[in-house]
Amino acid sequence: MAAQGVQLIPSSEEIMRILKRTGAFREGHFVYPNGKHTAHYFQMPLAFRYYDTARVLAVALSRKFRVERDIASQLPKVSVISPSSGGIPVAFGVRDALNAEQIYWAEQESGQRMFRQYVNQGEINPCIIVDDIIRSGHAIEETVELVRSLGAPIIGCGAIVRFASAPKQIGDVSIKSLVEFDEQSYDSSESCVACKQGVPEEHVRF
Ligand SMILES: [Zn+2]
Repeated sequence: MAAQGVQLIPSSEEIMRILKRTGAFREGHFVYPNGKHTAHYFQMPLAFRYYDTARVLAVALSRKFRVERDIASQLPKVSVISPSSGGIPVAFGVRDALNAEQIYWAEQESGQRMFRQYVNQGEINPCIIVDDIIRSGHAIEETVELVRSLGAPIIGCGAIVRFASAPKQIGDVSIKSLVEFDEQSYDSSESCVACKQGVPEEHVRF
């Protein structure tokens, strides 16, 4: 059963084709608010505006969790948790595919990550944290702290795309992803190849 499940997960190339087709992944010359220059730009919500695409991505990610014995054996008494608004459609899709019982999402309020819903100690099932993209891993790490402070064990963690520079695991839980993206960025225009070639730049948000 497990082997069959693994075969049903689309390849990274197929996932990247979906992200390109929906505009969630673009190539060009981009400048971030922190001054970094890159040739690639991810805007994951663009892939999640189409229900069919959102479903394909979430179901694919859910299969990476379902093959884990520690997760499969605890379903449906599992929580799926999003660290931010970008992960909410992923969390709902994964919850649906796994038929997990609970869903929570966190938001930044006054610089602190907290749950939108009122959550008391002991209310959260063993949890899977999912996001659309993991760049630095800070959002995931803060969410892990938040979840642990409420006494819930973390049994899974993942995203559609994980930057290769982000952590590979959280504690003893490995971070699953459909695409591992090796991003090249330049700290300033002096070192940027596209700048040297005179390619027009586009200023973008994270
Ligand atoms: Zn540049």
